[in-house]
Amino acid sequence: MVSAGMSGAAKDRAGEEALGGSIETAEGFGAGDEKERRRETIAEGKFVITSIRNPLEIKELAQSGHFVLVSLDAQPEVRFARMIRRGRKESEPSTFESFIEAEKKEMASADKNGQQIKDCMAMAQFHILNSGTIEEFCQKIYALYPKLEEAASFERPPWDRYFLDLAMMVGMRGTCNRGRAGCVIVKEKRIMTTGYVGSPPGLAHCDDIGHWFKQTIHEDGSITQHCIRTVHAEANAIAQAAKYGIDIDGGTLYCKMEPCLDCTKLLISSGIKKVVCEKRYHAAKESREMLDEAGVKLEVLQDTIEEYAGQRKLG
Ligand SMILES: [Zn+2]
Ligand SMILES: [Zn+2]
Repeated sequence: MVSAGMSGAAKDRAGEEALGGSIETAEGFGAGDEKERRRETIAEGKFVITSIRNPLEIKELAQSGHFVLVSLDAQPEVRFARMIRRGRKESEPSTFESFIEAEKKEMASADKNGQQIKDCMAMAQFHILNSGTIEEFCQKIYALYPKLEEAASFERPPWDRYFLDLAMMVGMRGTCNRGRAGCVIVKEKRIMTTGYVGSPPGLAHCDDIGHWFKQTIHEDGSITQHCIRTVHAEANAIAQAAKYGIDIDGGTLYCKMEPCLDCTKLLISSGIKKVVCEKRYHAAKESREMLDEAGVKLEVLQDTIEEYAGQRKLG
């Protein structure tokens, strides 16, 4: 879906006619009920609104969803000639000098709520200079369509998505292929430390010499095996804070899946107050209970269990 706005000083209708196709056009954004109606119409699909003359209109339109602003301009001489050619209205200026004078008021009115086309144009993501023929203008519009689609589909990631994606990227440096987990610890939306799964500095990595497996025999007699060569991503992020004296007290920890029991104890002890994970960990029941008891908030975005090699019980 694209909602495109046009702001510009071109005083002819050629631009609007050229938009044609499946895209509707309408002038301005209006006020009150009309504004609401326009917003609903925009939400339905592709729509072009022309003659945007105040930044407040753009702010309103931007709230409607995937909105892209395009500025249209042409040299004053060209626009004046076009106005004369299409037949000047009685209210419109008759000389080039009065045309320029009138335009100054439209570009930057003394009234902040009045016409502020200059500010509007500065807010545009795309600019079209419409100083040639209608055919040339059409070509520019058609060339712009895919870019409009791309710009309109852009979505700024929300904070949790941003930090979780960063944690994923950090995890790519991991050195144990059983799960290259990454972790980011954040305070007040700022990254304090990062960590990824790997051997302590200076020691050999799983990826180079293989895993170091230990088996665990559970109460029900089942056996699982775990690689114990590495420091987990969460523990490494906490260790980095300790090493460099970074305050993570009250912070939020982002990681791929729910923390294991050891990391849970560490993060509670280091003052982490919230944990945000992408997925569940198959053996996180005790971690969940401990976090709950310690008053640490746990958010899991996808209610699915992260799969990795060897998580199945051996016996
Ligand atoms: Zn390993
Ligand atoms: Zn862990």
